[in-house]
Amino acid sequence: MNIVLIGQPASGKGTQAEKLVEKYGLAYVEMGGILRKISKEDSDLGRQIKSIIEEGKLVPDQMTIEILIKHLENLNRLDGIIFDGFPRMITQAEAFEKYLAEKEKKIDLAIYLDLPREEVFKRLVNRRLCEKCGKTFNLLTKPSQAGDLCDSCGGKLVVRSDETPEKVNVRLDLFEQQTRPVIEYFAQKGILEKVDGNRSIEDIFAEIALRISRRNLV
Ligand code: AMP
Repeated sequence: MNIVLIGQPASGKGTQAEKLVEKYGLAYVEMGGILRKISKEDSDLGRQIKSIIEEGKLVPDQMTIEILIKHLENLNRLDGIIFDGFPRMITQAEAFEKYLAEKEKKIDLAIYLDLPREEVFKRLVNRRLCEKCGKTFNLLTKPSQAGDLCDSCGGKLVVRSDETPEKVNVRLDLFEQQTRPVIEYFAQKGILEKVDGNRSIEDIFAEIALRISRRNLV
């Protein structure tokens, strides 16, 4: 099965994805992480993506899709994947579904983690990222056991360049304008499950697992 996880930034997609990977043996494809990795490269593409991400804007569709397809080719699989942060626009959803259909694959389920904007804002400005290994923490909900260092690798914890309050507002506005319609798009296809994301990690995961089993996807 292929699952897409939709939700505002810091709505818990990465955390739930990690648990889905573990329970169902899925591969994890995180679009933001793939793009951030390219943004560190010393190339025209890297520099272009870096400046887009830093402004809190979205990478152009065509570029995003090409990067994703290349990533999937390297992964050598088109099924059993959990997508985090893709698709973020209807045009991406349509183009990707077309690509999958040509390979006789599809998106089986879209899970929307629903959270109030104020909660997301609070989480985002408290989020910290290990500059060495990329592990994420939250000063409020998931602090590092090693203070201001990463408790996995000892790296320094930093604020993401797109997580200042101004940039966060740009990203949340973009979610409303561009990504909110994707939720409706999947709902109309009958593959959307909306889950209340303002609960404990375990409760949310139990709910997601229940919805997956009700749909006979495993
Ligand atoms: P994220 O870590 O998911 O918040 O993504 C970080 C940044 O990567 C976003 O603010 C965008 O600039 C870019 N990005 C991630 N996913 C997409 C996508 N599906 N389409 C366009 N840009 C994206």
